Amino acid sequence: MVDLNGQYQRIKSEVDAAMQRVVDQADFVNGNAVGEFAEALARYTGARHVIPCANGTDALRLALMALDLQPGDEVVTVPFTFVSTLEVIVLLGLKPVLVDVCPDTFVMDPDQLETAITSKTKAILPVHLFGQCVDMERILSIARAHNLYVVEDACQAIGAEVTFSDGTVHQAGTMGDVGCTSFFPSKNLGCFGDGGAVFTQKDELAAKIRSIANHGMSEKYYYERVGLNSRLDTLQAAILQVKLRHLDEYIAARQAAAARYNVALQNVAYLQTPALESYSTHVYHQYTLRILDGSRKARTERLSAHDIPYAIYYPLPLHLQQAYRHLGYSEGAFPVSEMLSRQVLSLPMHTELTEEQIHHITSTLAVGY
Ligand SMILES: *Cc1c(COP(=O)(O)O)cnc(C)c1O
Repeated sequence: MVDLNGQYQRIKSEVDAAMQRVVDQADFVNGNAVGEFAEALARYTGARHVIPCANGTDALRLALMALDLQPGDEVVTVPFTFVSTLEVIVLLGLKPVLVDVCPDTFVMDPDQLETAITSKTKAILPVHLFGQCVDMERILSIARAHNLYVVEDACQAIGAEVTFSDGTVHQAGTMGDVGCTSFFPSKNLGCFGDGGAVFTQKDELAAKIRSIANHGMSEKYYYERVGLNSRLDTLQAAILQVKLRHLDEYIAARQAAAARYNVALQNVAYLQTPALESYSTHVYHQYTLRILDGSRKARTERLSAHDIPYAIYYPLPLHLQQAYRHLGYSEGAFPVSEMLSRQVLSLPMHTELTEEQIHHITSTLAVGY
């Protein structure tokens, strides 16, 4: 599905030198590279504050902790996402309220959002799934009307851009009160282990998130709140500093691969290629098709027989998972998410895909259409 080694080989000398510097300086925790990377990422994204942390799940947890929500407060999110999004809400004793996604873009349906809002709703947690943003302008206007926080799960969408109706352009993670991203190796900006970051435009929230990520400390060995130990290793920051310089190339390579897939597959009647919304660019963390004729199983068996990797993101929506049955949703509650779980298929997507590989994948998948 990904070719992390191929990507490393092309920047090996830069990355190796950066790692060696950290080892030579032995500043493994909170070393120089951490702050430098955070500054570079702030410049890249337009975020006023970037707070590095241990992983994307922690980024979400830090964001929600900083909003001082009370047990039982409601947070609206979607069932068609990676588990972290829902997990952190439940872990903090908050009440997740789910709304369905759009069938074409797989992201939160703003039309359903309004009906899910109650007097207990405090925040909206949309997910920019697979690399394309939610309709943030609509979500923000609904949030403003109801006085709600917006926390963006931008773990799959770093570098994706939304154009608002006034013509301004904003990066994923920088539009809500807080944005969260992950540097898990296979993410679009991935390190060599775990990593994450929180974005915010607000000084006060930034200070709070920094404190929570550092045990709730105000000054050395004085604690103003209950916090976590959530840090980005200096080694990972040094690697990410190098890779951030290549992020625009990486995005372009993914978009070129997606365009090739589209050309090969767009006229196949039983396939629906990823929809592109006019308000957001797509950075293709995943290239995810819908298979409309019920043939997914047969087609994935064909792919396997030809040693072609594939993935199903996600095979069971979160409201039907054993761990989240206590939320009280049953089958049929979110028909679009449930349908997508039966239809979606993600093809290999990374920066090193060649035209020949894409031809092999698409001709194997859509043979004899
Ligand atoms: C990867 C991911 C996360 C979690 O990131 P980790 O770094 O693995 O903790 C959260 N939400 C979404 C949508 C993700 O894809």
